[in-house]
Amino acid sequence: MRNLGLILELTRWRRAGHVARLWWRDDDAAGSATTLDRLLLDRLIVVAGKTGCPVTLAVVPSGDMSGLAARLAAAPAQVGVAQHGVDHTNRREGPVAGEFPHDWTAAQVREALARGWAGIATLPRAIKVYMPPWNDVHPALAEVLAGEGYAALSANGELDGETGLPRLDSHLDLMRWRGGARFRGRRRFLSKLTTELRRRRLAGHWDAPVGLLTHHLTHDTGAWTFLGEFLTWTRARPEFAWTSLPQLLPAGSQEAPPTKAAGRPRRATRRPLAHAA
Ligand SMILES: [Zn+2]
Repeated sequence: MRNLGLILELTRWRRAGHVARLWWRDDDAAGSATTLDRLLLDRLIVVAGKTGCPVTLAVVPSGDMSGLAARLAAAPAQVGVAQHGVDHTNRREGPVAGEFPHDWTAAQVREALARGWAGIATLPRAIKVYMPPWNDVHPALAEVLAGEGYAALSANGELDGETGLPRLDSHLDLMRWRGGARFRGRRRFLSKLTTELRRRRLAGHWDAPVGLLTHHLTHDTGAWTFLGEFLTWTRARPEFAWTSLPQLLPAGSQEAPPTKAAGRPRRATRRPLAHAA
């Protein structure tokens, strides 16, 4: 990855003796999927399998989940599942999208969440972590999630939670959205990664994971190509460690064990792609 700012930042991490933790969330797999949707999810699962990077699918609990369940049962063990909303329907008015109007009571939110979780709870490697569509956080959401036994909330941009509920956000969006979904671009993506690493270093939050966010249904050729290169490159760099979502949760909050693929990169293979384009 030719990005001078990133290489300099990684040098600072290495000199400080710290390893940057990465985790990967992919959104919008659902029971109600077309044939094309299924092929795109298969492609994502292949990328995860080939690179050995753990990925958590943020699954929308809508439609018949049996087909998705069968495919997940055959997928590599590092492909996990969490809850992406309740039906991915925007019920908010105005420019900000969200499933729960903010005048809904906590009881209404709780009821919707429970219905959604029931739809995905039996999927292989499902973990009770909530990932709201459009990153919309209802005022009562954290309180309801904690009360319902969710292990964490995952939205966008934060380093940790303020409410007591663990917060595992995404920070690096592979896509740009304004004007139509397309690959964010190599330079923009790597600059954002550099910014996120610097933010953690300056705050002393060395262990705060950096979340990669992908949307397999919208990837163009540039996004697919870069994703594979980025995962392979980071797997080989000693400054990074890929972690699964269960590994990032407080001990005992979930049952799923770490996978063989997760964890620190193998140092024997360091830097084979350090100068790849
Ligand atoms: Zn979504």
